[in-house]
Amino acid sequence: MSIFEKILRKEIPANIIYEDDYAIAFPDIAPQAPIHILVVPKHPAKNFSDTAQWSPEARAGYMQSINQVIAQLNLTDGYRLVFNTGEDGGQTVDYLHLHILAGKAMSWPPF
Ligand code: IMP
Repeated sequence: MSIFEKILRKEIPANIIYEDDYAIAFPDIAPQAPIHILVVPKHPAKNFSDTAQWSPEARAGYMQSINQVIAQLNLTDGYRLVFNTGEDGGQTVDYLHLHILAGKAMSWPPF
């Protein structure tokens, strides 16, 4: 089982800043920006591609959770959203999670 599933089950601790029926959000343990939050869905998926199999309700629910976390963070100067997916995408934890990065001006491209 991945570390994020263990956090979802409250088997290991995280500073959960947001939770609803569809997702939890907590700070990344190795922040890459002044604000770096992960939004982890309760509906299981290994990565973003798996969401193609989700019900419309599960998809809408996760999207709404993401919107709520962003609203709670009050990111008036903008932010970046990242789903690292698979090996080339740089995914290291095998359970779907969205990175919310903010608090500084970002550069592009990201490699
Ligand atoms: P990925 O590289 O997109 O899969 O992102 C995984 C992220 O999870 C990395 O940014 C890690 O720093 C983060 N991470 C790993 N373990 C933990 C944890 O226990 N709590 C919070 N973040 C974690």
